[in-house]
Amino acid sequence: MSEHYVKVKIHVEQMKSFGVDAEKQGVDAEEEEEQVAVSSSPPASVSPDPPSITIAGRDVSNTFKHRGKNRIKMGKDDKNICGKHSLDVSLHGGRNVNKLGLERTLHIKGTGKILQGKNNENNGVSMHPSKNIQEARREDGFKLARKRRPVTVDTSKAKTSLEALKLSIRQLKWKEFPLGRRAPCDIYWHGVSFHDNENIVSGQVNKFPGMIEMLRKINLSRAVRTMQELFPEEYDFYPRSWILPEECQQFSTQIRMVKENDASVNPTFIVKPDGGSQGDGIYLIRDPSDLKLMVGSQAKQAVVQEYIQRPLLIDKLKFDIRLYVLLKSLEPLEIYIAKEGLTRFCTEPYQEPSQKNLSHVFMHLTNYSLNVHSGNFVHSNSQSTGSKRSLSSVLYRLAAKGVDIKKVWSDIIALVIKTTIAVVPELRVYYQAEIPPGKPGPTCFQILGFDILLMKNLKPVLLEVNSNPSMRIEHEQEMAPGVFEYVPSPVDEEVKVGVIRDTLRLMDPGHKRTSIALHRSLHKPDKWKNVIQLSRGGDSHTTPIQAKCRLKRRSLCFTSALSSNLRAGGLDHGEEIPMEAEPQDRSPDEGALPSLCLKQVYPKYTKQFNYLRLVERIAALFIRFLGVKGNMRLGPTAFRTFIRTCKLSNSNFSMASVDILYIDITRRWTAGSSKPHCVAGMGLQAFVEAFFYLAGRRFKSQPLREQVASLLELSLLPRTPAPAASQDYRLHQRLKPRSLRANLEN
Ligand code: ADP
Repeated sequence: MSEHYVKVKIHVEQMKSFGVDAEKQGVDAEEEEEQVAVSSSPPASVSPDPPSITIAGRDVSNTFKHRGKNRIKMGKDDKNICGKHSLDVSLHGGRNVNKLGLERTLHIKGTGKILQGKNNENNGVSMHPSKNIQEARREDGFKLARKRRPVTVDTSKAKTSLEALKLSIRQLKWKEFPLGRRAPCDIYWHGVSFHDNENIVSGQVNKFPGMIEMLRKINLSRAVRTMQELFPEEYDFYPRSWILPEECQQFSTQIRMVKENDASVNPTFIVKPDGGSQGDGIYLIRDPSDLKLMVGSQAKQAVVQEYIQRPLLIDKLKFDIRLYVLLKSLEPLEIYIAKEGLTRFCTEPYQEPSQKNLSHVFMHLTNYSLNVHSGNFVHSNSQSTGSKRSLSSVLYRLAAKGVDIKKVWSDIIALVIKTTIAVVPELRVYYQAEIPPGKPGPTCFQILGFDILLMKNLKPVLLEVNSNPSMRIEHEQEMAPGVFEYVPSPVDEEVKVGVIRDTLRLMDPGHKRTSIALHRSLHKPDKWKNVIQLSRGGDSHTTPIQAKCRLKRRSLCFTSALSSNLRAGGLDHGEEIPMEAEPQDRSPDEGALPSLCLKQVYPKYTKQFNYLRLVERIAALFIRFLGVKGNMRLGPTAFRTFIRTCKLSNSNFSMASVDILYIDITRRWTAGSSKPHCVAGMGLQAFVEAFFYLAGRRFKSQPLREQVASLLELSLLPRTPAPAASQDYRLHQRLKPRSLRANLEN
């Protein structure tokens, strides 16, 4: 009996000594061994031992092989192994961190003894002859290892971002679950939408619900248009657009009138299908009669937009900018911009549109997916040549020509913040419907791809925002007629791996720092550190391609050193805004990583842009009256309640009129909806229209934005969490700067 007791006790003690971590890492310890491809690893200098052989090791080597190697296009995700690039990769020390990572996995799962032994060695015993110190360090190391479990990432739905994501996870020494995991992960990386994995109740997902819908061309145009009604000067960076088919008549009439007024004006328009991407279905027209309105018997949903006739050219070629933006949080609103982006070049010299060249896609459309099929497309290992280049190399070149790139960059930041402010209200409605307050669910973040064109006068123009920007770090190349291979693309890897890795760093659940702390850190004196960081030599996280591109990266320093001045709703010369990374933006175990390539722009510039967030306040009001959890539309009773609660009805505006208003607006929005099966009720956009109408009735003879601000104040929303945008707006009105209206017809 007592012997049995002793045995049991020993067993319990052994289990304890095997560490809390195994327990903490979930019930699926075995499953992990089979699925974890990249495990957490100490820096190379800390753990020089050769790798242990595990299943994870096999996965890792596979990853290496197919990552760098050419791949014959068979199916979307099929990968074959061959080629030269993999040799570069496997020879490069920095990439081998995952080999070392295998050990760390063993350490975590093993006994304290094994772990201590390694730490002892790795911490350089010979440098610390005192045994006590050594032991203290060993203990500290053990405690640290026990305390910090690696961040877990479910990559099973990552799709085409998988390669860049794997590299990022490896650099961070986090733990990947390529086949998913039964226990919850810290981060879920989805390739398409919030719903790629269902039933996530904790952690963070890299997609917001509703983002795809919100950023379709029609919805984006609508959201920006609402802001243009309120703030026409601030939102003049989006070309005039009409929604098809419903505004076809309006479009034709307006164009006819313009031409009648001035016969010399001959504008061009670009027609883009609503759900289209990669240039699919896009065409240019000069006359409304050339609109193709039908697909079979169905009316085509599309946007027809003013065509920017005079873009800035480099080497006589039109190009656009792809900028990566992290929407870190909706509430509070947090926006980060990647300091480095891509530029995509046309492959046929640009000429202003004429009837003859309207169909020349290689001249007018900058899409990579189209131009890659042109004989003139140049794949380049350099970041500053070829048909895809880094943004910094382009800015550098413009600066060399005397262009004020500080101003360009500042205008781009303003464009990004304003566009995000335009789409956030609707996103908040989707968010509360999907994850109502009080319901367990994940939090969300998302990387967005902003496509921006620079006009000849250097004004940035928003073309579109992609909810799923391509994160591929390889490109397709036709090796023989009909035979395509994927080959590594240095410029893509340089930019995209940085963006994903630093997004993960910012989303690290162990990252305790608040936005406020981040904000404070920006004002520390070492703000130029990043410039130095980028200029100096390599680090253990640099890939071979990155190393090759190091020289080119110096141009980024140039961009990083940009500065400008923010005024309300925009940027001007004057006050300095450092464009380098957040200097203190690392947790202690991120020591060897480069500075963040993502720069916080909001809430950092709240003061300058907060007054624009009027519609968000209307959305907060809308959400407040939605009532039922999961609802996205306001019923007639809820609308009446809103009117009553906010005391908007009186003898001049009876409740019967309220009902008529509700029916009228809801019917119009339902009829004009781009969704085939429309749900009954009043959506946010319709509610905003009703709100504008009510504001106009109540506060006649003021500009619309003042009417809206006044009505919001009147509605007095103590429970509304949105910022005091109306007060900001009033302040802004007092300080209002000069007119900013720019002519899109440059
Ligand atoms: P898609 O989602 O299909 O790529 P975009 O809106 O990005 O659609 O348009 C495709 C390309 O057409 C852009 O990359 C740009 O080169 C060109 N383009 C789009 N809109 C305009 C515009 N208003 N003026 C000039 N060029 C435009």
